[in-house]
Amino acid sequence: MIGAAERKGLSALGSADALHPGWRRMWAEASSSAEEHEMIVVPSAEEEDKNRVHHLILMEEFATFSELHAILEPFGKDLSRSGRPRIRLGAGEIAQRVHDLGGLIGPAHAFTPWTSLYASHDSVKECYGEEPIDFLELGLSADSSYGASIPELYGIPFLSSSDAHGPDPGRLGREFVVLEVRELTPAGILESIAGAQVVRNAGLFPEEGKYNRTACSRCFRQYTLEEATGLGWKCPQDNGRIKKGVVDRARELSRGAPHQRPPYLHLIPLPEIIRHVLSRSSSSCRDVRTLYERFLSSFGDEISVLTTIPVPDLAQVHEGTARAIDSLRCGRVSLSPGGGGRYGTFSFS
Ligand SMILES: [Zn+2]
Repeated sequence: MIGAAERKGLSALGSADALHPGWRRMWAEASSSAEEHEMIVVPSAEEEDKNRVHHLILMEEFATFSELHAILEPFGKDLSRSGRPRIRLGAGEIAQRVHDLGGLIGPAHAFTPWTSLYASHDSVKECYGEEPIDFLELGLSADSSYGASIPELYGIPFLSSSDAHGPDPGRLGREFVVLEVRELTPAGILESIAGAQVVRNAGLFPEEGKYNRTACSRCFRQYTLEEATGLGWKCPQDNGRIKKGVVDRARELSRGAPHQRPPYLHLIPLPEIIRHVLSRSSSSCRDVRTLYERFLSSFGDEISVLTTIPVPDLAQVHEGTARAIDSLRCGRVSLSPGGGGRYGTFSFS
C-alpha cells in the first residue's frame, strides 16, 4: 500500500478501516516501512450509523481508534469483523464521541443514492443534529461544483478521496486533496482539514462515477428526474429500482448562490488512459501494465506524469499515451455519464 501510494505521487494516505483491530495491528507493523518511505498514514475509518448513513472518521493516532472502538463496542456487533462496521447510534451521537476524542468526522460520499447523508436526509442538521461536521466527502460521482450552491455547506471543506481499499493504481489516489499544512504529520493534516486549508481537489470527472445520473440499477437505463418521479422510481423495462443520480440530488439541494471553492483538477488514472489508448478491455492486461511501468520508471510517479511532465518528454516513452494526456490536460475529453451503479466512460478528442 505504502509503495503504491509513493508511486502514485502521494505524500499521505488514509489507512481506512482503523476501527478494525486486525487492520490497526497491520499498520503498527507497517509503520517502519511508512517512515522509510516518508509516507504519512492518517488513521481513518468509515462506519455506518443506525440510519444507514456512512461517515468518515479521521484521528491523529491509531491508539485513539482503539479508544473509539471500546466506546462504540456496546453499539455494534461487527466492530471486530467488518472494515466498515454498523453502529446502532445516530450520526450526532457518533460525531460527539469522535469529537470528544479529538477526531474529525464528516459524511462519506455525501450525494450517492445509497447509504449517504443526502440519500437519507435533506440537511446536515437533520442527520447530525447540533453536532457540527468537519468536512464533507464528495464521492466519485461529484466534484466541488455540485456542493458549491448548497448554503449549509458554505463553510465546510470538501474532501475528494478515492475510497480505495487496496493498492490497485486504477483506484488508489484516483482522487486526492492538496492541503496547506503546517507540518506533514497526521496532526498537521487534521489541523489543515479542520481549518479548511484545501488548496486544490483532484479526481475523476464526476460523469465517470457510477451514480452520476438518475438510472435503473438493473438495466442502467437513464431517466430525467421528472420521468423517474412519474414512474414511481420503478423501471418499466425490468421493474428495477431507479436510483437518483448525484447530479439531480445536488441540484435539488442547491438553493443559494455558488460559493467560491478551491480549483478542482479532473484526472483519469494512468492505467485507464493506457488501456484506452491500447484499446484493451482491462487495465490489468500485460501490455498496459508494462507501459505503465515504463512511464513510472522514466518519471518517478503517476501524478507527475498526468499533470506536470512536458508532453514531448512523455512522447519519448509512448506517443499515443502522451497525446491522450495532452488532451486530458487541455480538457479535450468526451464523457458518457454513468448511473444506477455503472461507471461512466470517456474518450479523447
Ligand atoms: Zn431497468
